[in-house]
Amino acid sequence: MQSICPRCDLSNVLENKYCSKCSYPLKPEAFEEIKAEENKKIVELETRYKEMDTVLQNLVQAFSSVDEQGKQIIARQLIQSGNFE
Ligand SMILES: [Zn+2]
Repeated sequence: MQSICPRCDLSNVLENKYCSKCSYPLKPEAFEEIKAEENKKIVELETRYKEMDTVLQNLVQAFSSVDEQGKQIIARQLIQSGNFE
């Protein structure tokens, strides 16, 4: 017995959790794995976003208390650090 990939029509051996050609999940547990993986990524992104948000808020605060020359120095350092490319 074989399972046909719904995406690329390849006949996979029944044991395959994923299509051997296009990696499409063929079994319910494969879908679950992908969902769990995606949830993990979303949580990581949210954490990263919150960190960035805090950093940006601190920057905005710091920014509002420096003069023009200071702003240019900070801007240059940000660009050099590669965070805002
Ligand atoms: Zn496939």
